[in-house]
Amino acid sequence: MMHISNSLRNHFPLLKKCPETVVYFDNASTTLKPISVINKMNELYTEYPVNVHRGAYRFAEQATRAFEDSRLAVQRFINARSTKEIVFTRGTTDSINLIASSYGRTFLKPGDEILLTQLEHHANIVPWRMLCDRIGSVIKVIPMKRDGELDLSNIKSLITNKTRLVGLVYVSNSLGTINPVAEIIEIAHARGAKVLVDAAQAIAHFPIDVQNLDVDFLCFSGHKMFGPFGIGVLYGKEHLLEGMPPHQGGGGMIQNVNFDEVSYAPLPSKFEAGTPPIASAVGLGEATNFINEIGFKFIQERENLLLSYTLERIKKINGLILYGESKERSAVFAFNLTGVHPHDVTAYLDQKGICIRSGHHCNQPIMTFYQIPAMNRASMSFYNTLEEIDYFIETLKETRKFFS
Ligand code: PMP
Repeated sequence: MMHISNSLRNHFPLLKKCPETVVYFDNASTTLKPISVINKMNELYTEYPVNVHRGAYRFAEQATRAFEDSRLAVQRFINARSTKEIVFTRGTTDSINLIASSYGRTFLKPGDEILLTQLEHHANIVPWRMLCDRIGSVIKVIPMKRDGELDLSNIKSLITNKTRLVGLVYVSNSLGTINPVAEIIEIAHARGAKVLVDAAQAIAHFPIDVQNLDVDFLCFSGHKMFGPFGIGVLYGKEHLLEGMPPHQGGGGMIQNVNFDEVSYAPLPSKFEAGTPPIASAVGLGEATNFINEIGFKFIQERENLLLSYTLERIKKINGLILYGESKERSAVFAFNLTGVHPHDVTAYLDQKGICIRSGHHCNQPIMTFYQIPAMNRASMSFYNTLEEIDYFIETLKETRKFFS
C-alpha cells in the first residue's frame, strides 16, 4: 500500500502546523498552498514589488521576467502552442465571462444555440444566460443520469447546425464525474461548433494537453491547483483569440490611443487591461513547477487509491445516500445522511477537525435533478491519507448516531 510521507505533507503549512487536528477534505473548493508557492510570492513582494511591462529599471525587468516566465510555465503545463494563447484572468469564472462577453457578443446571433450540460457549475451557466437574455441566443442542455454521468444518447441531435458553442465541465465539482470531453469535442467540431471546457476541477488531478484534446477554450483557476487566489487562465486557440475583441479597455492592452481611435496590443495583452495580479501569476507558475515535481503519475495513483478506499467504506454506512457513481470519476464524494441536515453534518465534523462542505456547491441544476436542496461533499487531494479516511468514516457513523 502506498503511504504518503510526512515530508510531502510538510510542503503544506496548514498540515504541518496542525497535523492531527485538521483533516482537509474540501479540495474541490480550493486546494492547500505549498510553501514554495507562498515563498515565490513573498520573493516578489520583498525583492521586486513593482509593476510589469512598464519600467525599464532593474526591478521592473525582474518582475516582468517572473510574470512572463509564469505564462511560459502555464503554456508548457497544458501544452499550448504559444504563450499568446495564455491569457491571465482572475479565475475560471472570469475566463468564462470573458468568452461570453467577447466571443459570445461578437459571433452569436439571435436563435443560435449554446449547448451546456446539467452538470455545469453556475460559472458556466450564468454568463451564458446573461448573454442569451441580451442577444436572444438559446441554451440547450445535455441531461444527466442518476449515476451522475451525462446522458449522451441524444448528443447528435442536441448538437444542431445552430449550435455555435458547447460549454462542458471536465470534472463535476459535486459528483466527481469525469466527462468524455474528447469524444464530445469531436462530435461538436464535426458540426462546426466550438467547445469551451471548464477544467477547474480537472487541472490539479490529471494532465491536460490542449493540442491533443483539440479544445477551443479551456478555463481554470490557480487556487484549485495549489496556486494562489485571484489568478486563473483562459487558454484559447490563437486564431480564435485573434478574432475576438477585447472585453475590457484600459492600460496595457493598447498600441495607440487617441480620442477618436484606439488600436490594440497583440495577444495576450489585448485581454489583460490594467495592472495584473502579478504576485498571484508568479505563484501560479510556481504551482505548475510544484505539480511537475510531484508528478501526475504519483498524483493519479495516490488519488485513485483514496477514491477506491473511500468508496468501499462510505457505501457501507447505514443511512448514507451517495450521489454520483460514475465509472470515470475523481475523489469527490457527495452524500446525505438520512434524517440529518447537511449543515448539521458539516458542523459536527468540524468539531472533530474534519473540513467538508455542505450546500448546493454552485450546482443547483444537479440539486434539482436529485430533488434535494443541498448535499455534503468531501473532496480529496493527493496529500490526504488513508488514516484520515478511516477517521472520517468513523466520525460519519458517529454523526448519524448523535443526531438519531
Ligand atoms: N467551475 C467549476 C467546476 C468549479 O468547481 C468552480 C469553483 N468551485 C468554478 C467553475 C469557479 O471557479 P472560480 O470560483 O475559481 O472562478
